[in-house]
Amino acid sequence: MNDINIHKLSYGVNTALLFIVAGLMIFFYKLEADFLVYFSVPTLCVYIFNYFLIYKDKLGFFLWLVYAWITLYMGVTTVCLGESYGFHLYCFSMIPVIYAVEYLAFKMGRKSARPMLISICVAAFYFIIIGYVKIHGPVYNRDNRYSFLFLISNSLIVFSFLVIYINTQVRSIINSEIRLTDMAHKDRLTNLYNRHFMLERLEEVSSVKDTAVLAMADIDDFKKINDQYGHNAGDEVLKAVSEKMTSACKNCDISRWGGEEFLILFCDSDEAADILEQMRTDISSSPVEFEGQVINITVTVGMASGKKDQSIDEWIQEVDNKLYIGKNSGKNCVIG
Ligand code: GH3
Ligand code: MG
Ligand code: MG
Repeated sequence: MNDINIHKLSYGVNTALLFIVAGLMIFFYKLEADFLVYFSVPTLCVYIFNYFLIYKDKLGFFLWLVYAWITLYMGVTTVCLGESYGFHLYCFSMIPVIYAVEYLAFKMGRKSARPMLISICVAAFYFIIIGYVKIHGPVYNRDNRYSFLFLISNSLIVFSFLVIYINTQVRSIINSEIRLTDMAHKDRLTNLYNRHFMLERLEEVSSVKDTAVLAMADIDDFKKINDQYGHNAGDEVLKAVSEKMTSACKNCDISRWGGEEFLILFCDSDEAADILEQMRTDISSSPVEFEGQVINITVTVGMASGKKDQSIDEWIQEVDNKLYIGKNSGKNCVIG
């Protein structure tokens, strides 16, 4: 969220609070709770003053004033009318808001909003008010059908807010974890798995590697492509080759093992040789176009089935040796 959105949000929240206070002021007037009507006047003044604070970018001061005044407002309404109206319940919805502000402060590189300290103050105030009302009773004894209506609607607002807020937060945590895991497992340029993730996958299949096939594919004369067409063209070739391999791949994991080398793992060995041959012909038969130039590409592939008593390193070494044989026998081939 950027500074403009934060300002918009602040103006929106302040306006909503202003209208709520104005509406409640009318209700308190009808209820003949004089003190609450008088108390609404400085409250309205505070929210009008808040526009000035937001305009001057004094968001820290604005937040402190909102926290302090909402807490005071809840305290005063509860002392005057008692718990039966449910105004004290808003204390609970303050806590997530306090922590949301801390998150925004972190995102914007601003000072910590001290959520723990404020939360403890809100909780302490809550207990003082509840204790006071229990001992002395409310200032105005105005328990009527309105009090029940208020209790129900205030409870509903607080419950709904908590459910929606927590649901949104948990969804956002899940989504960002999925995104981060994806970023940690994938190569940025090609969107294939990276070397680190491939090593994890190889460890996973190590107990059943006698039914798996590993292959190492390497783009032929890639250095020449870079030299002749430029590094950006080289990057386009890497992306195009990755896309072609991905679309030909069935039941396999493809990783970018190094610069222009790819390690491919097939858990089902039956079709591996055919799929690799398909990949090789797809790549050699469809040149990459870059800035009006046509670049022919070929790949050489080494492949080997896994053996029970072989280590992962030995298996990789074996496919690398096969690849080396392919490079020495004219390139653009699959050696099994
Ligand atoms: P061979 O046919 O024997 O595989 O020869 P080659 O030229 O493909 O292999 P070599 O190892 O000599 O050169 C690989 C080149 O790949 C060198 C390096 O600059 C280039 N390279 C590595 N990573 C990237 C990359 O991310 N982008 C681009 N454009 N080039 C890269
Ligand atoms: Mg190469
Ligand atoms: Mg290479």
